[in-house]
Amino acid sequence: MPYIELSLPEFQRRFDSEESCLQAVFQARWPRGFVCPRCGHSGGYRLSQRRTMQCGSCRRHTSITSGTIFHGSHVQLKQWFLLIYLLANDKGGASTLRLSRQLGMHYATTWFIVHKLRVAMATREENLTLAGYIELDEAFFGGRSRNSRTRKGPKRPSEKKRQVLVMVESEGSQAGHLVMRVIDNATWDTLKPIIEAKVESEPGGQMFRTDGWQAHDVVMTFGHSIKMGHIPNHMQDAELPCMSLAITHAKRFLLRTFHQFCKTHLQRYLDEFCYRWNRRRSPGQLTHRLLTACALCPPVRHSAIAR
Ligand SMILES: [Zn+2]
Repeated sequence: MPYIELSLPEFQRRFDSEESCLQAVFQARWPRGFVCPRCGHSGGYRLSQRRTMQCGSCRRHTSITSGTIFHGSHVQLKQWFLLIYLLANDKGGASTLRLSRQLGMHYATTWFIVHKLRVAMATREENLTLAGYIELDEAFFGGRSRNSRTRKGPKRPSEKKRQVLVMVESEGSQAGHLVMRVIDNATWDTLKPIIEAKVESEPGGQMFRTDGWQAHDVVMTFGHSIKMGHIPNHMQDAELPCMSLAITHAKRFLLRTFHQFCKTHLQRYLDEFCYRWNRRRSPGQLTHRLLTACALCPPVRHSAIAR
């Protein structure tokens, strides 16, 4: 796409009007030309001065932004696009307060849009599955455990922490794709649908490495192989190197960006982290990819992401 790796001034010049943004949404949504969502006919025309396409066959009117994350928003597309650019280009993750000040937008409005962008990221990741050699473990996010500072032994959750299932592909010394899921507990019923959905099912299965966490039962149910055994804390980096790297980076990302982040929304912060991680080898394409993700993401209600 022509706007890959544009500087902020270049990006602002390119998307300086609602019309230029609308055309970009159109391109992302229908890269091969308009297709009627009702009858599937490929062909139609723009109703002049409106955001609407009319089908050349059934005559149905379709708004260019309907069915996308931009649907029904009172915020200009120009502002949306700027937020997409700033979020995509801030490697460490962008804080809502800073974004709202940069754009002169109300904090609450910015907060809802940024969370909707995170939903678009998560929606884009829905079909991602892991394969090959996979490191699996649990992690605890959000606050310091009372036990962790004073006692040795296995990790224990405190009331302030949230438990997270972490799975990351290991390609030798290189980490591959990453999945992080906030879980209420580590029971069979909780873990089974996540592992079923996020791990490639093939004859022979995938190869897992874990430190003996209860998830191994679930993993074996799906025919995967597993190498497990207790790993002392000082051996974690050597035995689960990609896992250690992912958790360290995720914690740093949360601390740097969100400071006192709300644990209610932890999953969406992790969604943003995983989205960036899984695209970190092509950072110059993040703006374009996030814009496409937004154009293909169904509308998100405020109530679905409210505090
Ligand atoms: Zn039609």
